[in-house]
Amino acid sequence: MRLKAHPDKKHILITAGPTREKIDPVRFISNYSTGTFGYEIAKEARKRGFFVTLVSGPTVLKVPAGVRFIKAESAMEMKKAVEREFTRADCLIMAAAVSDWRVWSTKSRKIKRGQDRGKVLRLVENPDIIKEIGRRKDGKILVGFALETEGLLKNACKKLKEKNLDLVIANRLSSKSGIFGDKKIGISIIDRFGKIKRVANKSKRELAKIILDKVEAFNI
Ligand code: C5P
Repeated sequence: MRLKAHPDKKHILITAGPTREKIDPVRFISNYSTGTFGYEIAKEARKRGFFVTLVSGPTVLKVPAGVRFIKAESAMEMKKAVEREFTRADCLIMAAAVSDWRVWSTKSRKIKRGQDRGKVLRLVENPDIIKEIGRRKDGKILVGFALETEGLLKNACKKLKEKNLDLVIANRLSSKSGIFGDKKIGISIIDRFGKIKRVANKSKRELAKIILDKVEAFNI
C-alpha cells in the first residue's frame, strides 16, 4: 500500500521480529521472537495518526493496515533499511530481536553431513543498529528494548546510556514464564532522566499504548 506522507504527521519507524542469519541455503540461526510486540506498537501508532514504517524480520503476523512495510531477513538487511528510513523518521522504536552474531562465511551449497563429529560454526558479531544510530540521533527519539535473565534494571540502565536512548523497555526472561508471543507480561520503562515506571501483567496491546504515551510525552 502506498501512503502519502502528511507534512504535519510525525513519522515513527518501528522494527519487529527476529533476524535470520544464513548458514547455507537451507539453514539459519535465529531466536524465539514472534514480532508481536513491535506489530502491536505499529498498530497503535497508526491508530494515533502517526505515519508508521515497520521494518520486520520473518514472522507469521499479518501486516498491519495503513503501515509502510519493509521486510528484512538478516541483521545487515535490517541495518540498511533502518538507516535509510531513519532519515525521514522522528522516532525509532527498535523492538526487533536482532541476532548479535552472523555466520562468518555463508555457504552457497548445502553443507553435507561428513566424517567430522563436531562441526564448528564460526560467527562474527553484527553491528549494534540502535547504538550506531544513537551516535548521530539528531534530536530524534530512540526507544530500545532490554531482555535480560539477570540484573534487569542495572543492565537496562547501562543500555540506555551506552546506546544514547530516550526510553528503554526492560523485560525479564525467566524460565517459568516465557515472554515470547501473545501473553501477558510485566515490563519496566526507564526514561533518559532515570525515572522508572513498572507495569505488571498486561497484554502487549495494552503495553503498546503505555509505551506510546511515554513517547508522545517527549512531544514528538
Ligand atoms: O544489547 P541488546 O541486544 O540487549 O540490546 C537490545 C536493544 O538493542 C533492542 O532494542 C534491539 O533491537 C537493539 N539491537 C540492535 N542491534 C543489534 C542488537 C540489538 O539495534 N545488533
